[in-house]
Amino acid sequence: MKHIFEKNLEITKENIYCSNCGKKLSRENISVLIQTKEKTLLHLNCDHCHSFSLVFVYSGKPGVFVFGMATDLSNKEAIKFLTEKNNAISMDQVLEVYQFLKSSKGMMDDFI
Ligand SMILES: [Zn+2]
Repeated sequence: MKHIFEKNLEITKENIYCSNCGKKLSRENISVLIQTKEKTLLHLNCDHCHSFSLVFVYSGKPGVFVFGMATDLSNKEAIKFLTEKNNAISMDQVLEVYQFLKSSKGMMDDFI
């Protein structure tokens, strides 16, 4: 039996659009790089505008949130970057950056 988050992820993968051009992405253009019980990191590859994106999905007690960003890494490059010991960015670090950005007032001084 699939965990409810896995079911939600399957539904989500049917409804993902490119943030750059707005075209609907096919399942073949969506890669799951990391998946835990609460956290998922997706890599999106748009055939139409040839852009790449990383999307972090968190589903836990506080609720569900999605944080996406453009990248120049292909899915293979992203996997390589994430698995190299010294370069690895943990899911918790991504969550910390999201929470920091969410709480900031958009002032450049907050980022320095
Ligand atoms: Zn696109």
